[in-house]
Amino acid sequence: MAYQSPISPGYSWYEDTVGERPAYPPLDGDRHADVAIVGGGFTGLSAAAHLAKAGVDVVLIEAHRLGDGASGRNGGQLGTGQRSWAEELEAELGFTRSKALFDLAEEAKAHLLEFASTNGIDLEYMPGQISVAHKRRYLDVYRAHADIMRERYGYPHITFMDAQETAERLGSSRYFGGVRDTGTGHIHPLKLLVGTARVAAEAGAHLFEQTKAKGIISAAGKVRITTPIGTIVADKCLIATNAYGGKLEPTSAAHVLPIGSFIGATIPLPPESPILPGGESVDDSRFVVRYFRKSKDGRLLFGGREVYSKNNPREIRAQIRRQIAEVYPSLREIEITHAWGGFVGITVPRQPFVREVMPNVIAAGGYSGHGVMLSNFTGKLYAEAVVGNRDRLRLLEDLKIPPFPGGRLFRHALTFLALNWYALRDRI
Ligand SMILES: Cc1cc2nc3c(=O)[nH]c(=O)nc-3n(C[C@H](O)[C@H](O)[C@H](O)COP(=O)(O)OP(=O)(O)OC[C@H]3O[C@@H](n4cnc5c(N)ncnc54)[C@H](O)[C@@H]3O)c2cc1C
Repeated sequence: MAYQSPISPGYSWYEDTVGERPAYPPLDGDRHADVAIVGGGFTGLSAAAHLAKAGVDVVLIEAHRLGDGASGRNGGQLGTGQRSWAEELEAELGFTRSKALFDLAEEAKAHLLEFASTNGIDLEYMPGQISVAHKRRYLDVYRAHADIMRERYGYPHITFMDAQETAERLGSSRYFGGVRDTGTGHIHPLKLLVGTARVAAEAGAHLFEQTKAKGIISAAGKVRITTPIGTIVADKCLIATNAYGGKLEPTSAAHVLPIGSFIGATIPLPPESPILPGGESVDDSRFVVRYFRKSKDGRLLFGGREVYSKNNPREIRAQIRRQIAEVYPSLREIEITHAWGGFVGITVPRQPFVREVMPNVIAAGGYSGHGVMLSNFTGKLYAEAVVGNRDRLRLLEDLKIPPFPGGRLFRHALTFLALNWYALRDRI
C-alpha cells in the first residue's frame, strides 16, 4: 500500500517515483554521541552527512520517516539568493552583509549540485527559473532587479522579460512580465533526501526513524535528549525540526511558525504542449506564492494553496485545480493524479532562524519557503561549526529574527489574521 506521511497530508508524486528507499530502525536503547540531531529533513541529514564524513560520532533521530516533513514534499525550486531579494536585504542590512548572504546562497546552490554529483544522487535537475508579476505595477521592480543583480551583485544570469516573452515562455498570458534566471533550476527533492541519508549512513552516521524526541535538556556540559525508547547523551545537539517541532523547544516555537502549502500533479502533458516549453520552474509575485513547473515526465506540478490554521484542507485537488485554471484555462478539466502538502517554517522577516537556544544546542529552520538549497547548506555550515569554524554559520546566527507577536497563546491567531490580510491584498 502507498506510504502516507502521518504528519503531512496526501500521497506525493515524489513518493510514487522515488524508487527503492531503505527503512532505518528505531533507536535501540540509550546512546552516547558527539552530536545528536533531532529531525530527518534536509537540515538534519545534511549536517549528519558532513559531520560523519569529518569523523564525528553522530546520531540522528526522526519522529516518523526521513523526509516526511517539508524536505521530501516541496516544490523543488532552488531559486537564487535568499528568500528576500538582495536589494531588500541591502536596505535592511547594508551592502556588505547582503552581498555576503547572497554569496552564501550561491555557494549553497553550487554545493547542492556538487554534493549530488559527487555522491551519485540523481536529482532530476532541470535548469531555469522564471519569476512573474501578477500586477502590472510590479514590473519596474522586476526590471530593476535584473539590473541590480548584474551590476551590484555580479550575477549576470537574470534577464527581464516583457509580457510577450513571458506569455511565450509560460504558455499563459496571465502575467504582465517578469525575469528569467538561467543560473538555477529545480529538482526531485525526495531523491535528494534519500540520497543524502544514504551518504550519511555510509559515512557512519547512526540514523533512526520512528523515534520522537520528547525533551531536550542541556546541563553540566552535556545535552540529554529523551525519547520513549531511550536517552541520547551528546556533547552538542542540532534541532532540525523546523515547522514540525511543535512544543519541543519554546524559543524555536516562538520564532518559526508552520504554514501549510499544497501541490497537485497532473497527468503528463503531451510533448507538443505550449506550457513551459523551456522546462523552467515558475514563481509569482503573490504573497501566497503560486509556484509550478513540469516534471521530467511532463506533468505540471502546481503549488499554490496555503493554509494558516492547523486544519488540513479536505479538498486539495479542487483548490489546486481552480488555481491551475486561472493560469492555464485549457487545463480546467485535467486529471490531477496526486495532491499533497506539507508545512513551511516561516519567520517574521522571512530570513532563516539559526540560534543557540541552550548551551551547545543550536536550532536551525525558518527558511520561509526557500529552504531547498539553504537547509542543506545550513546543515553543512553546522557541521563546519562543530569541527571548528563557526564564522559562516554566524552569518545566519547574526540575523535579527524577532519572535512572532502574541506569545504562546495568541501567536497563531494573530499570524492567521495577518497572513489572511496579505492573501486578500493579492487579489486587490
Ligand atoms: C509544499 C511545500 C513546497 C515547498 N517548496 C519549496 C521550493 O520550491 N523551494 C524551496 O526552497 N523551499 C520550498 N519549501 C520549503 C522547504 O521544503 C523547506 O525549507 C526545507 O525542506 C526544510 O527542511 P528541514 O530539514 O529544515 O525541515 P523538514 O524537512 O520539515 O524536517 C523536519 C523533520 O523534523 C522531524 N521532527 C519534528 N519533531 C521531531 C521530534 N520531536 N523528534 C524527532 N523528529 C522530529 C519531522 O518529522 C521532520 O521530518 C516548500 C515546503 C513545502 C511544505
